[in-house]
Amino acid sequence: MMFSLHGVGVARGCAIGKVALLQRNQPEISEYTLPEAIVEDEVQRFLDGVARARQQLQEIRARLPATIPADTAAFIDIHLLMLEDSMLTQAPVKLIRTRRCNAEWALKLQRDLVVQVFEAMDDPYLRVRRDDIDHVVRRIQRILLADEAACTDLVATRLEDRIVIADDLTPADTILMQQQGMSAFVTEHGGPLSHTAILARSLGIPAVVGVRNARRYVRDDEWLIVDGQQGVVLVGPDAAMLAFYRWKQQQEQGQLRELGKLKEQPALTRDAVSIGLYANIELPEDAVLVRQVGAAGIGLYRTEFLFMNRTDLPDEEEHLASYLHVIKILEDQPITIRTVDLGADKRLDGEQGATVVANPALGLRAIRLCLKNQELFRPQLRAILRASAFGAIRMMIPMLSTLQELFQVLRLVEDTKRELQARGQRFDARLPVGAMIEVPGAAICAPYFARHVDFLSIGTNDLIQYTLAIDRIDDAVNYLYDPLHPAVLRLIHVTIRAGRKARIPVSLCGEMAGDPRYTRLLLGMGLTEFSMHPNNLLEVKRMIRNSDLSKLTPIAKRLLQTTDAGKLAELLSAITENT
Ligand code: PEP
Ligand code: MG
Repeated sequence: MMFSLHGVGVARGCAIGKVALLQRNQPEISEYTLPEAIVEDEVQRFLDGVARARQQLQEIRARLPATIPADTAAFIDIHLLMLEDSMLTQAPVKLIRTRRCNAEWALKLQRDLVVQVFEAMDDPYLRVRRDDIDHVVRRIQRILLADEAACTDLVATRLEDRIVIADDLTPADTILMQQQGMSAFVTEHGGPLSHTAILARSLGIPAVVGVRNARRYVRDDEWLIVDGQQGVVLVGPDAAMLAFYRWKQQQEQGQLRELGKLKEQPALTRDAVSIGLYANIELPEDAVLVRQVGAAGIGLYRTEFLFMNRTDLPDEEEHLASYLHVIKILEDQPITIRTVDLGADKRLDGEQGATVVANPALGLRAIRLCLKNQELFRPQLRAILRASAFGAIRMMIPMLSTLQELFQVLRLVEDTKRELQARGQRFDARLPVGAMIEVPGAAICAPYFARHVDFLSIGTNDLIQYTLAIDRIDDAVNYLYDPLHPAVLRLIHVTIRAGRKARIPVSLCGEMAGDPRYTRLLLGMGLTEFSMHPNNLLEVKRMIRNSDLSKLTPIAKRLLQTTDAGKLAELLSAITENT
């Protein structure tokens, strides 16, 4: 009998195949108190486990075939880097010594601590980095528990056209299994922003994650359909369903081929207006995807990751290394580095004397925090300037609400240039500095900001939150989160016009930029630069290439002049259907 299971579709496409069940459970960890005499042996056992985990990952990395997209290794490198980090290597040693506990338990305690920090994060992308911690921790724990087979047996298994069902998969598992012929996977855990999910998208493997207890409902060798778009898994499909999905597969493959061809095509409207399509990244290794989709550069490089999960501040050299890493991948394409956007709620670990505030989103975050706390800001400024000697770097300031803040930043940039000159270090004296427009007050005053900066970038995620007074992470009010609210559209339009008048570029880097439903409206409003998650870029490009700007502009103009809901809806559908 056919039935369906539901989860989150993370990588598009559908697959039809037989199940390969991976019966591998989370390691069971108990606490033991050790006699003093063997504590040092236990420390050694732990360190040997870490070394073995490193060796396993290095072996997997060395075996990657040339057919796998270049830089896929970056996902394994992240785990290798974690194995060098003191939070996973030294902290458990300390715990073994102070608590006299077994290595597995010490690692579990440390894992819980680190995961807590990640879970408290505001940014959903950074929040799911906890999955990477879990993947690395589990690898070490399985080694400690002498359950090594669970880590390595996958290499030996043939998975030709099989759909793998597992508790969770690491990026390394995913790469290995793809090499063994896996056609799709379903996991009980994991989310859409995990590295495994990102990897599945980049490798084009249909995948559904978060299907609770999936392994309880399917048997080895049973037929299955995985719909990675809808997040549905069909168990024991009947003939009609199989025929339907075979047809769907053909359609999708055709569409993918078409979308893939767009990579090399220019982002031109039908009436030959050139549009700049840029990518947003959260981690240096995301730069790989930027190249894969053929973006014109990076329109938003979020730098918060440098500050996460540590008790000290990143120094200038750490900043610089992460910027140089991206420059190396992007070569001479523009890279827009956003200065750090930490907030009152995203406090640094160990920060002293911080008070709990009722409205953190309205508090001391982003540039406000940087100006107040300059030991946090100055190393970043120095590193951005130094990086500008090696690539086409631009610097972007988040959450500006007053011109005075901007002037303060510009003075600091000039001070920093003098400092670097005195040190004999190179930088681009004309480093472009841009303002993010994310506060309604700044949008209304965009013409004034535009006179003093080299570019503007509209952060609609925050602009919508502040314009409509809705917390962007509060599910209870997300029904009010509306990019099409007339107030939001007007603020976007004011900003685009201000940039045009001052003859400086304006881009939009909030989620709205990557949603093809809004592409034509934004084009019609005069937007010529979009920055988005790399995965959305080709679809937005397709929309641009199917649009005629001369037809969109008058509809957008009328749309901006109405607040009548019925008329708005009518104009919106006119603009979406315009071809
Ligand atoms: C935004 O606010 O639209 C934006 C791009 O910044 P973030 O989502 O990082 O706040
Ligand atoms: Mg923002």
